[in-house]
Amino acid sequence: MFDYVVIGAGFAGAVIAERIANKLNKKVLIIEKRNHIGGNAYDCFDKNGILIHKYGPHIFHTRLKSVWDYLSNFTEWNFYHHHVLGVIDGKKVPIPFNLNTLHELLPKSISNIMEEKLIDKFGYNVKVPILKLREAEDEDLKFLANFVYEKVFLNYTTKQWGMKPEDLDPTVTGRVPVYISKDNRYFQDAYQGIPKEGYTKLFERMLDHSNIKIMTNTDYKEVLSIDKETKEIVLFGQKFNGKLIYTGKIDELFDYEMGELPYRSLRFEFETLEKEFYQEVGTVNYPNDYNFTRITEFKHLSGQNHPKTTIVKEYPQQYNKDIPGQDIPYYPIQVEENKKLYKKYKEFADEFENLILVGRLAEYTYYDMDAVVAKALKVFKEKIENE
Ligand code: FAD
Ligand code: UDP
Repeated sequence: MFDYVVIGAGFAGAVIAERIANKLNKKVLIIEKRNHIGGNAYDCFDKNGILIHKYGPHIFHTRLKSVWDYLSNFTEWNFYHHHVLGVIDGKKVPIPFNLNTLHELLPKSISNIMEEKLIDKFGYNVKVPILKLREAEDEDLKFLANFVYEKVFLNYTTKQWGMKPEDLDPTVTGRVPVYISKDNRYFQDAYQGIPKEGYTKLFERMLDHSNIKIMTNTDYKEVLSIDKETKEIVLFGQKFNGKLIYTGKIDELFDYEMGELPYRSLRFEFETLEKEFYQEVGTVNYPNDYNFTRITEFKHLSGQNHPKTTIVKEYPQQYNKDIPGQDIPYYPIQVEENKKLYKKYKEFADEFENLILVGRLAEYTYYDMDAVVAKALKVFKEKIENE
């Protein structure tokens, strides 16, 4: 009945299914364990009628015109450039740490010298990961690097990951580099915005096709199994000869046979307040105070008009697949040991002829939405369309 089966209705699964239905005109079944599509990008109205992101704030940004153009087939966009402030030494200052942050936190006599030295060494409009800045030999730059490390990165990262910045892959803290610039935006990508009617509507339009059938509320294990010996896939009790596109956790697919891949989870605390706005910008980070890392106020993102406002606090927590409330694998933990374990699973998966892995969980990669869309489009082209 189906030529393809896709597990998971997040960006990875939805893009592949849309392409199969529209470009190949083939039939595809999507199996999704949650009661909705959209994966972690899912949004909905809360009981006060305010649009919220159920699994944490999602801001779309990309430098890839192809990705922007592709998604623009399914949504219009609200212009939105994300601004983040961090509470440091009692002041709310721009994050990523930039030249404005520098001048707000340090006395002019010092900050002017620092600015000159930063520009001399790295240039203007340049992004320097904090772990790289810490390697500077100049005494003043060393002082600055330690200041930023301690005030912005150390405590936030310890809360978020339970680890120090230097114990994680440098790309993690490198996502929010020191920016030698006076541009206060969180991202500098050419294309930025929030889907005008929300992410869920975008997904609904992507998947609205007679070739696509979606089973929500269904863990794939209820209807599909794989035989690790014969490398066969069984769907509804019969051998499935089509292709399986899997976007869930790779260790789960192979019954954790080689051990569990570690993840970091989050607990979200939503609160609706009887006022029009709570804070100045979309997100305020609290590196050094409280057990949460940041507060996001959705109305800044959506542009929605409403007399009340909803905020969310993010409390990092350990992931445990067996404990409800801790069982959502939000972040793959980027350290060498975990990458090695992933590679072992991947090598085993590669022995299956009709299995394709794509997405943040299946690839155990800290992807943003645009990177997942780009990867799914590439996988479709190389492994599905041209096969
Ligand atoms: P997912 O969205 O996780 O989708 C996978 C789907 O598979 C899920 O719906 C899941 O329920 C389903 N599934 C898993 N196992 C099974 C199973 N056994 N049976 C059936 N279905 C299953 N990116 C940005 O670009 N900008 C942001 O601002 C941003 N903010 C983020 C904030 C947070 C807190 C988090 C956690 C992520 C954020 N991201 C952001 C990243 C973004 O969420 C991901 O890049 C994107 O959602 C990945 O899509 P995906 O399809 O790979 O995975
Ligand atoms: N980070 C930090 N302080 C900040 C912001 C970020 O230490 O004020 C570090 C932290 O380790 C975090 C990483 O940079 O996990 C990436 O931040 P980003 O905002 O990209 O995280 P995400 O939105 O993916 O949760």
